[in-house]
Amino acid sequence: MSQEPNYKAELVGVFGHPVAENPTIVMQEAAFQAMNLNWRYLTIEVYPEYLADAFKGLRAMNFQGINLTIPHKVEVLKYLDEVAPDARLMGAVNTVRREGQRLIGENTDGKGFLRSLREDAKVDPQGKKVVVLGAGGAARAMTVELALAGAAHLTIVNRSPQRGQELAALLNEKTPTTAEFVPWDKTYAVPPDTDVLANATSIGLFPNVNDTPDVDYSTITARMTVCDVIPNPPNTPFLKEAVARGAKTLDGLGMLVYQGAIGFKMWTGLDAPVAVMREALAKAFAG
Ligand code: NDP
Repeated sequence: MSQEPNYKAELVGVFGHPVAENPTIVMQEAAFQAMNLNWRYLTIEVYPEYLADAFKGLRAMNFQGINLTIPHKVEVLKYLDEVAPDARLMGAVNTVRREGQRLIGENTDGKGFLRSLREDAKVDPQGKKVVVLGAGGAARAMTVELALAGAAHLTIVNRSPQRGQELAALLNEKTPTTAEFVPWDKTYAVPPDTDVLANATSIGLFPNVNDTPDVDYSTITARMTVCDVIPNPPNTPFLKEAVARGAKTLDGLGMLVYQGAIGFKMWTGLDAPVAVMREALAKAFAG
């Protein structure tokens, strides 16, 4: 980083509540430094009742963009000039970028998963049969992008039937794929023709790092690619079970890094230094 006086940096950041533990600053600041960009990423606590004011401030202060985390990903749609079609389908925005004075909503979570699937696991979703555990925000983002990328069939397995049914209906009605909902009221047996199995629930998230989804692990086979969204710790017991059955695995750290890398490109127009970002995050999680 240059030692010149820092008169004016470009600003981006994240609005959330709570937000103090959000790890994104670590990878974005590492990327700005590596690329010698005079940009700053700010972690900003915004209470739900002040989101409208926060957006006025963002426009007034000429921010280049912003990330949204809990609880703002849905509410934010009201304050945008435009929403990308995939984010509109998901009904959630995690990244806002600017085009001139217009604020445009995007969702990079599912895109990050897809890029990690393609680049880290070397799996093209086109024509694949995919089972997703969960029907929350992460599952919605992942399944919409998988469907738009040509996945042949999506199975949504979820504990609460309403959320699962709604997601399957959305995919059937608004995307080219076929989707079905399976209630998760007993141990889930993975169909033998599954190509990709993804845990998109919060099971296994710190501090409950030993919890595993209720799956019959003997039904996982070596033909499957098994993915987890949990980024910390990335080597989850779920993935360890899959490795024990000879499956290829993909952890949630890659998804997190790529969703940030895609946001970095939307903001700066430059290809993100992905390796630098991954290393910075892995180091922060290890510490
Ligand atoms: P949501 O709260 O929107 O959804 C949580 C999902 O997990 C729901 O489907 C919920 O089922 C299910 N679930 C939670 N606990 C259980 C349980 N004990 N048994 C069965 N199902 C359960 O959360 P998000 O979708 O936003 O996030 C999910 C996970 O994804 C989090 O751990 C988050 O950290 C991670 N994530 C990772 C990203 C990455 O880049 N790696 C990006 C975004 C999220 P139900 O509907 O029945 O309540």
